[in-house]
Amino acid sequence: MRSSERVDCVVRKLTEGVLVGLIVLVGTAIFPVDSVAQEAAAADGTGLISDAPVFPAVTPPSRYQDAIDKGTRTVNGRPGGDYWQQRADYRIAVEIEPETARLTGSETITYYNESPDELTSIVVRFYQNVFSEGVARNRSVTLTGGMDLDRMALNGTELGVLARPRFENGEVIRPEGPGYRMNGTVAVIQLDEPIPSGGTAELEIDWGFTVSGGGGFRNGHLDNSVFNLAQWYPQISVYDDVFGWDMSPYLGNGEFYVGYGRFEVDVTVPDGWVVVGTGMLANAEEILRPEQIEALLAAPALDTVIAVVSAADVESGSATLASTEGKQTWRMVADSVRDFAFATSDRYVWHVTGAETGGARGRVLIQNVFTPDMDHWAEATLYAKHAIEFFSGYILEYPYPQATAAMGPPQVNGMEYPMITFITHQASGRGLTGVVTHELSHFWMPMIVGTKEMAYAWMDEGFTTFNTALAMDDWFETSDSRLGGMNGYLQAARFEAEVPIMGHTDFAENPFGRSVAAYSKPGTLLHSLRHMLGAETFDAFYTDYARTWAFKHPMPWDFFAMAEGAAGTDLDWFWQSWFYETATLDQSIASVQQSSSGVDVTVENLDRGVMPVEIRLTAEGGATETVTWPASVWAGTRSVTRTIPFDGTVDEVVIDPDQWYPDIDRENNSWTRPTS
Ligand SMILES: [Zn+2]
Repeated sequence: MRSSERVDCVVRKLTEGVLVGLIVLVGTAIFPVDSVAQEAAAADGTGLISDAPVFPAVTPPSRYQDAIDKGTRTVNGRPGGDYWQQRADYRIAVEIEPETARLTGSETITYYNESPDELTSIVVRFYQNVFSEGVARNRSVTLTGGMDLDRMALNGTELGVLARPRFENGEVIRPEGPGYRMNGTVAVIQLDEPIPSGGTAELEIDWGFTVSGGGGFRNGHLDNSVFNLAQWYPQISVYDDVFGWDMSPYLGNGEFYVGYGRFEVDVTVPDGWVVVGTGMLANAEEILRPEQIEALLAAPALDTVIAVVSAADVESGSATLASTEGKQTWRMVADSVRDFAFATSDRYVWHVTGAETGGARGRVLIQNVFTPDMDHWAEATLYAKHAIEFFSGYILEYPYPQATAAMGPPQVNGMEYPMITFITHQASGRGLTGVVTHELSHFWMPMIVGTKEMAYAWMDEGFTTFNTALAMDDWFETSDSRLGGMNGYLQAARFEAEVPIMGHTDFAENPFGRSVAAYSKPGTLLHSLRHMLGAETFDAFYTDYARTWAFKHPMPWDFFAMAEGAAGTDLDWFWQSWFYETATLDQSIASVQQSSSGVDVTVENLDRGVMPVEIRLTAEGGATETVTWPASVWAGTRSVTRTIPFDGTVDEVVIDPDQWYPDIDRENNSWTRPTS
């Protein structure tokens, strides 16, 4: 991406018909210009075919380039010396009334303007308005009426609704602030006094809404007895160094883009209701019996599972202490998180164990809550433990004090928040293992590595699909998960249902294509990239990327540049063909001929997707030899012939025998010696 001049050069030379290798080879030879391919292309006159797989340089948006110029980002994909990001701390009090499914909340947000800019507005998200009548969304829902906004004040001044700007005599007339305009799920507060660079603002909001019982998504309740609450409080949108305020509406498919801060949340529920959420319980002694607190404190050191609330406790109504008012307030505290979610139920069994992170945190608490009729859910505690330990080792040490899997209603499906995930009660068997592993993997991406998921869903779901496949294959000791993901992508490609990975998830043409572009395709490509770079190089780079951008906001071009740094070469061809376009790969063996100097193999690329060629030759008797041709062999040609030195008689030739690359048609990937 960065080295645009190199590829421009190649394209120009191809156009002139003079095929000269200009790319300087550094490190891994993934796409150096290859003289053999050039000679072959020149000899058969195919060097100028219009759809030759040579791709132009990736051009990041001008605002990303501006960020590099300002020193907040760098050309090597790392944050610049002048990188900054905003911070918002939340103090929230919320009460749930189970019979009516009513949530009532009030909050104070302290917003720190760490940017060099003077802010004249603040953008606040009211996610629950996606369930209001007349609000734009891309999912069908049951209406709940959305959020009732009872009060909003800024620095002590009450805020009212402002009229929309109007045109008068060719000028835009904006009503005077302070006040706000609500547009669906997004409110823009217009300030009377700007917040200076380094300044703060305090926002107070009172609100309420009815929790969806069904026909919702990401949050809801099951029979007024199990509540999963997410996207539930008014939240400051992100103002970042590249794009400024994120004003994108919450339409349903896209999930979130959130800044970091501290949360102190008081959740009030009836006696006997268990609450688990983002953060740690700060007032256990007011709610739990001494032996329950002992279990919570002992759990991190354990590898076995113990109960804080057992099925018998649920049956006897003694999950918590009894209060005089019949309700209790659970105080949860979390630092350096980008969101807060919680689950509560009068039927939760609460299991705990410990996990080793290998980092500064040492051992952390693992929690699993589920209803007593879901016996198989008890297994999820160990899946969660495995996920935290595996990803701590593979990506980055888990930095938070606890990790929770919470069983929920069907509409939550599987949904991730910092330190807590919601998983539908319908999950079971391998599906439960998979969804617990997947959702806990999200603790890393995007909860620790804070990407802009609405715009770049692949940096959230694609990375998570990749991570999950590694963890699942570790758990089950197979490669099924990786290959399963690849097959999902290939199905979409065969149906021509694909949409580009680098498209906005809310505006994809079809749901299948949207899902593949977010999950299985980028997941598959990360496995391909890992194979190309070598696992050791890739894994070191991957950890470096996660550590570099932990608690920050990387953009796609940061990742691209860091990957190129690790590869030691330009990867424009990879990003362009696979992330920006929907080119597919179809490598095919055209001919195999044995000569005195070895085996002449001709491989054709029947589609526009580019990948290296990995060829395994098997001799009579079973000895094998594997050779790799770099992706550059496809520069300007679709057919490559090479002589592979080989002793003995070749019996079989196979392209990509271990399926590292997403070849759309494997029928033409092998050749066997004809029987005479
Ligand atoms: Zn996911």
